[in-house]
Amino acid sequence: PTPAHGTRVVVSPSNVVLGREAVTEVGEYADLYGSKALVIATPQIFDIHGDRVTENLQRKGIKTVTYTDVQPDPTVKNIEDAHRLWDEHDCDVIVTLGGGSSIDTGKAVGVLANNAGSIREFGVDRAGYEGVPNPIPPLIAVNTTAGTGSEATRSIVVTDSETSTKFLIVSKNVVPEVAIEDPVLTVSLPQSHTAFTGIDSLTHAIEAFVSVKSYGVPDDYARAAIRRISTWFPKAWANGDDIEARTEMMIGQLQAGQAFTNSSVALVHGMARPLGAQLHIPHGLANALLLPYVMDFSAMAAPEKYAEIARMFDVADDTDPDRTAAKKASEGVFELCADVNLSSYLDEFGDVPDRESYLEVVPKMAQDAIDSGSPDNNPRKP
Ligand code: NAD
Repeated sequence: PTPAHGTRVVVSPSNVVLGREAVTEVGEYADLYGSKALVIATPQIFDIHGDRVTENLQRKGIKTVTYTDVQPDPTVKNIEDAHRLWDEHDCDVIVTLGGGSSIDTGKAVGVLANNAGSIREFGVDRAGYEGVPNPIPPLIAVNTTAGTGSEATRSIVVTDSETSTKFLIVSKNVVPEVAIEDPVLTVSLPQSHTAFTGIDSLTHAIEAFVSVKSYGVPDDYARAAIRRISTWFPKAWANGDDIEARTEMMIGQLQAGQAFTNSSVALVHGMARPLGAQLHIPHGLANALLLPYVMDFSAMAAPEKYAEIARMFDVADDTDPDRTAAKKASEGVFELCADVNLSSYLDEFGDVPDRESYLEVVPKMAQDAIDSGSPDNNPRKP
């Protein structure tokens, strides 16, 4: 139904299973929905944790078919290949193992399973928001990063290799049925990816909070996420075996996902997607490069919100007027980025072309950012 008269729809997965060894419950949940699971993962994560998922499924008598070729920033081909397996094997439940790349592949396979058309046709640029007519089949997302929050969101991000762009699908019909949040699975995350994924979650929380679409419910998720992530992120990064820190980060990234999916992302994400698509910079790193600068650019347009962020980061206090405090908010993020060793130098990472070809690609990246619609949600319009 279309919300009337300014009412809001708050989306959420039906079940969130959180805590040590939550992964052992995957079979019990799958058993509620079907008897043959398509398990979707990246090769790396399947090598590390695949057995834990398939054994727990098989223990409950669930047959498994596996697709383990997901690449980070999943492509149209990944989705079509996995969907082919879904059809050929007549599966009835989707289980994803991994971070945003596995989860988004699973959601997109679900879109194709229950809707006619190619995946490109469901992008917001063609179908608009809420452009997926039928809900996806039951999807159980076993999350392994902290993270994108994709296990709780109505978004799918797909890389179109032909055009070197990332496109978005947004519909409440793609929210997973079950999110399994087992912090033990995140212990194997390399330190660099703990940093990339952690800053991604902080960016979600901050962008949701300052978005022109924000309101009470996502604001509260965002506040909780910013506090939790700013406290626990450096601890989880410094000692990846610290299960308490990993648990808090898992909760923080979930709250950040719930914040942005019920509000929106904004300019940072609009610009980060072309950085990822063109320069193959990990998504979280692209966010880290942009976030403090976009905060500086935007603070003047929403001083109360940025002042609150500055106070949460302890770089301003109640004696600072909002306008003064707001200007300090990015300092907190800069400090956090330094704590987790996220360099702000673009050319230290990724496949950055020489200056001349870089300049050639900048106008396309700027246009792609604007076309994504996310910058429209920014408090200050670029
Ligand atoms: P990812 O899923 O791409 O994983 C990154 C790498 O880390 C992969 O090589 C993966 O195999 C490995 N990995 C993941 N978990 C691991 C673990 N526990 N131990 C060891 N290795 C592990 O990373 P991500 O940041 O979670 O997802 C990024 C993708 O999610 C991007 O495509 C981004 O655009 C998308 N995204 C989606 C949403 C959404 O709401 N749908 C939101 C933000 C980002």
